[in-house]
Amino acid sequence: MNAPVPAETCGIDLVRERGQRAVFCGLTGIVWLHRKIQDAFFLVVGSRTCAHLIQSAAGVMIFAEPRFATAILDERDLAGIADAEAELDAAVERLVARRPDIRLLFLVGSCPSEVIKLDLTRAAFRLSRRLAPVRVLTYSGSGIETTFTEGEDACLAALVPDLPEADEGDGALLVAGALGDVVEDQFARLFADLGIPVRFLPGRRAEAMPAIRPGMPYLLAQPFLAGTARALDGRGLHHLPAPFPLGAEGTTGWLRAASEAFGVAPERFAAATEAGRRRAATALVPHRAALAGRRIFFFPDSQLEVPLARFLAREMGAEIVEVGTPYLHRGHLAEEIACLPVGTRVVEGQSLDDQMDRARAARPDLSVCGLGLANPLEAEGLATKWSIELLFTPVQGYEQAGDLAELFARPLRRRALLEV
Ligand code: SF4
Repeated sequence: MNAPVPAETCGIDLVRERGQRAVFCGLTGIVWLHRKIQDAFFLVVGSRTCAHLIQSAAGVMIFAEPRFATAILDERDLAGIADAEAELDAAVERLVARRPDIRLLFLVGSCPSEVIKLDLTRAAFRLSRRLAPVRVLTYSGSGIETTFTEGEDACLAALVPDLPEADEGDGALLVAGALGDVVEDQFARLFADLGIPVRFLPGRRAEAMPAIRPGMPYLLAQPFLAGTARALDGRGLHHLPAPFPLGAEGTTGWLRAASEAFGVAPERFAAATEAGRRRAATALVPHRAALAGRRIFFFPDSQLEVPLARFLAREMGAEIVEVGTPYLHRGHLAEEIACLPVGTRVVEGQSLDDQMDRARAARPDLSVCGLGLANPLEAEGLATKWSIELLFTPVQGYEQAGDLAELFARPLRRRALLEV
């Protein structure tokens, strides 16, 4: 039953749907997380299906010995004939002996390990003691528990209890969410210009994880980090409400939230952000012609849908037909929701057939969706954009605003060329 949800004070048309979903599981996050934490290894404790998913999602990006693998649970494990715990311990020990570069090892739970109730928390604890100084942590990327980007959330939340305590009087800001290194470097320079000391979660190496302390303010760099935020709150940090740094407007709002919390003077804020805002405005101009007035439909996938819809509507002049999102965190997205055009249809959850029917009826100019839906939609003559690209491509901040717009404009230009 798809009941309407009270729109509270935000003026959007909010509906919650329950039904069949077409969203990747949280294992997908390994594809960008293994590049971010350079001495970590992700061992999926799963099936051949899990191995195929990771390989096909990441296959094109492997240039060196990969830092992820799958410990396959076979029929004997699943039937309880073999001692899965002993086999897992042996596999991890072999791996660490062969790869001395590994400093941090994640045991990533999957549907099969959940079904046979393999206790990965105990395994991580046991192996951490045995393999020190290598740290072994665990989180679930299973399709039973997580959607697509929730894998990153679970991974970062698993890191939080282990983060070192910062000194008394430490006055830094924490930014939580895996960002491309180039984006992180740009933000580090902007925060330095604002006079705000900053640390990033996750760090780029196991020994470079950020120190935190109670009272420390934090900004979320991604909208899908509900569990990480809960873990940070649990260690006494406090969240700074802000839009997300997508597009020029979102980036300015995100930086302003930190600046206000740190008492940065408005003149200093204007001076530090002026050049970036100007470059972003220039970069957006050519894409506005392609996107203005175009009708865009978001299928639920990455949880980036609401900030992206805000960017496309307000900065590019696009018309938003529907914003599907797997979950809508009312608190973290409050500033984004307030910026959506009044009456925007936001659908939390998914009932795939109903949503496909609505997309077919609406015939949007562009559908933003997961890989599984792109082919059927293209076959019906609808242009698509894979939402997974928004996680693989650096899109946050002023310098990437043009690239972000280009991701949406390109399929429209391509289609226009094909139709000529
Ligand atoms: S974790 Fe579950 S949904 Fe994800 S690939 Fe493995 S079996 Fe499939």
